[in-house]
Order: sequence, then structure tokens, then C-alpha cells
Amino acid sequence: MPLSSPLPLPPATRNSPIRLLSTDFDGTVVNHETQPAVVPEFFTALAEMRAHGVQWAVNTGRVLWHIEEGLRELNFPVEPDYVLTSEREVFHRGPDGRWQDFGDWNLRCTVAHDQLFSNAGTLLADIETYLAAHTRAHPIYEGARLIGLAAESDDEMDGICAFLEKETARVPGFHFMRNTIYVRFCHEDYSKGTALAELARLTGLERGQIFAAGDHYNDLPMLDGRHAQWVACPGNAVEAVKRTVAGVGGYVAEGACSAGILQALRHFGVCSGEMGAATNSRAPAP
Ligand SMILES: [Mg+2]
Repeated sequence: MPLSSPLPLPPATRNSPIRLLSTDFDGTVVNHETQPAVVPEFFTALAEMRAHGVQWAVNTGRVLWHIEEGLRELNFPVEPDYVLTSEREVFHRGPDGRWQDFGDWNLRCTVAHDQLFSNAGTLLADIETYLAAHTRAHPIYEGARLIGLAAESDDEMDGICAFLEKETARVPGFHFMRNTIYVRFCHEDYSKGTALAELARLTGLERGQIFAAGDHYNDLPMLDGRHAQWVACPGNAVEAVKRTVAGVGGYVAEGACSAGILQALRHFGVCSGEMGAATNSRAPAP
């Protein structure tokens, strides 16, 4: 949203140095089990923060077309300034308003993953064999490349992740991100955390000016205090996320999804107001 005033921007808020919000999408902003999926007060707060020069990045595991679809379907009254997708890619708006690569990070990311997967042929074949023999999980392919999997349940995914923890150590740099019953394979240098660090570098922001919030395992790399000083999670976050956030002095909200993130933003003084009627207490599956 363009600012109409030519005057210099005021400080982010009276009480906060925060200039950039990095929020996960599903389960953190969006509650798919309530209507509306996002409490209206969240957008009121976003508009207020934007008027004070705060920018918003959606930092999601969704691929670009999928987050574009999600934003279109939900028809948010405030749109993000950036989208960080697939837990690793960084996009900003081009002159035509469409998302485009921000710098050369996405290119470097693609090269690193091409190299990684070319080194991991035996490992990937062994993972496929394990999944077929011992699980009901479904492998996920991109072309001929095995890029991840979907388990039948959280319990099954616990067992698969124990297997992956052990086996992926065979290939230097090979890592994986878990989000609910999904896993995506990745290079250890690329995550929601390092993508956020690159966005900070490109926008000239420091760790102390960044807020991050998420609800699941794939959010941990942006919630451990390395890339964002101000971190939070909603009440529906998994225990590992709550422990990490609490461990670095972050805010573990009571409210679910956007209601919880709004509580956190108010806690850190980046927006004003009381919770009032902003309740969204029916917790979704994380
Ligand atoms: Mg999530």
C-alpha cells in the first residue's frame, strides 16, 4: 500500500523497533477451521503498522503458485510486501505488481539443490524403498526427482523422521523440513530462517528489527533467535515450537492463529489496542 505522505516515516511505533514481520501462513495467520479464517483485527493492526513503515513477509512452505492461490481465495484486505516460499525462496513485487525473484538468492538456491540431489541418488532410492516397505506414506515427485513425502498420520511421520534423521546424514548438506504430515527434502543452507536473513540483507534490516511467527517444525529455523530477535507462536503451535520460542525469550500466545499473533504484536508494542473481541480460540490442527 503506497504511503501518501512525503514526510519521513515515524518510528515503527512508540514502543518498538520492529520494521519487518515474517509470518507463516497456514496455522499461523490462517485458521482453516474458523470463519473468518483471520480475525479482522489482525488486518486493522497490519494497516496501522504499515502506516508506520512496517513491512510484512509471508514466509511459507507453500510453493509460489499455491500461496498466490491462498492469498487470492482469502482476499486479504492487506497484501504482503514479500512472499518467501517453499521454505526457502524470496520474492518481491515487480513493476507490474507480480512476484519476481528478489536478487539472485533463488538462482543460488536452485543451483545448490540441483547439486544436492545429484549427490543423493542412492539415499533417495533407499528412502523410496523404506517408504514402500515399512509405511503407508506417499512419495512426492517433481518430474523424476523425489522431493518429499506425505505420511498417513503424525505418528507415522514421527517414525519416518527418525529414519530420515539417521539416513540423511550420509549425504553432506542433505536435510528435510517437516510440516504436519509433509516432509520436503532440502539443502541445509536453505530454510525459512536463511531466506529471512537474505530478505533482511536485501532490505537493509537488522535482526533487532525483525519479528517472526510460526506454528510448526518447518518454522523453527526462523524462530530460534538467530535471524529475528522478536519471535512468537500461536497457542496451536506444536510443543517443539513453543519450547524454542520460550527458550529465546519469545511470546507464546494463548490465541489460535491470527488472534495469537495479534496478541504477540501487541505484547512487543509493534501495534496498539487490546484484544477485545479478537477471539479465534478454536485451535486448528497445527
Ligand atoms: Mg504453519
